Amino acid sequence: MADCIFCKIAKGEIPSATVFENDDVRVIMDIGPAAKGHAIMLAKKHVPNIYELDPEDAAKIFSVAPKIARAVQKTTGADGINVLQNNGEASGQTVFHLHVHFIPRFKGDSVQVGWKPGEYADGEAAKLAEEIKKNI
Ligand code: 5GP
Ligand code: ZN
Repeated sequence: MADCIFCKIAKGEIPSATVFENDDVRVIMDIGPAAKGHAIMLAKKHVPNIYELDPEDAAKIFSVAPKIARAVQKTTGADGINVLQNNGEASGQTVFHLHVHFIPRFKGDSVQVGWKPGEYADGEAAKLAEEIKKNI
């Protein structure tokens, strides 16, 4: 993808504050951090989102996540970490190249990653589960 900014960063064509790199990912500091220490893990291969990620690449990419989460937590002293991956504009995705966020969280901070729990009518969750099952 010639005009994809994350392709260029992942390949090292644009310099970045890199915290980890291997054949499959580059992990950099987010330019607009939700909190200090917010890192993002970029796939080296251009894949726009999780829907188009094949299982082998998924295994390689996501297997890096625990050590990044541990390092961000240890460095920042965070009380928690949100590991977040957006797919589609409606989810908040703004760069359409697969990446995973590591957001340090502190008790009482004002970072907004959350939702108000909704509810199901009787049987609705089970019915949806059946429908999702058919699409796997
Ligand atoms: P998304 O909203 O797509 O899940 O996340 C995109 C993230 O990439 C945002 O948090 C944004 O701050 C970050 N970002 C966008 N462009 C750049 C860039 O050129 N360099 C870095 N380091 N982060 C970027
Ligand atoms: Zn790309």
